Amino acid sequence: MELLKERIRKDGIIKPGNVLKVDNFLNHQMDIQLFNEIGKEFKRRFADVKVDRILTIEASGIGIAAVVAQYFDCPVVFAKKSQSINLDGTMLSTQIESFTHKRTYEVIVASRFIKPGENILVIDDFMANGCAALGLVQLIHDAHANVVGIGIVIEKGFQQGGAKLREQGLRVESLAIVDAMDADAQTITFREDS
Ligand code: 5GP
Repeated sequence: MELLKERIRKDGIIKPGNVLKVDNFLNHQMDIQLFNEIGKEFKRRFADVKVDRILTIEASGIGIAAVVAQYFDCPVVFAKKSQSINLDGTMLSTQIESFTHKRTYEVIVASRFIKPGENILVIDDFMANGCAALGLVQLIHDAHANVVGIGIVIEKGFQQGGAKLREQGLRVESLAIVDAMDADAQTITFREDS
């Protein structure tokens, strides 16, 4: 998605440790006009699938998923990172290793929000090693629902997540795939067809 790649080139900051900081428009301040264009692009790419719900993970997936959901006309559910006293009933849960925080945490979704047989689209801001996306896929499988696709705003193609998910036969659509980035030169190489 050209508009997104241009924005990453303009505002993205490459940090040591293979972290791309885009908090000017995606992870902290949010550019809702850009989010709308992202929503339209996901809708275009997943136009052939029926989506009953979008599943994302707190915190940075929520903003983007909320805007994207308007184009699919469906609710958004976000997996929560810790037990909450506000949750009741049966829970689905799985362990996810955080790329940015380097620790493992439990994520939970109330099972009444992912019903058996439903078609679920996973949306997230980034993909690195794929732990977050794989965890969400696990929750959907545990709920006996269907993963119709995984929509990622920025995939770091030089890390393993995308390959792992695609090897499992999952449909992954990433709007910008970064194939290389150099923290010293502050340069980014995008995959041609992303
Ligand atoms: P994964 O589980 O695929 O290893 O990492 C995905 C999660 O880590 C995303 O939900 C995102 O919040 C965070 N993340 C991974 N890499 C980056 C990065 O380079 N920049 C930012 N801002 N977040 C990242």
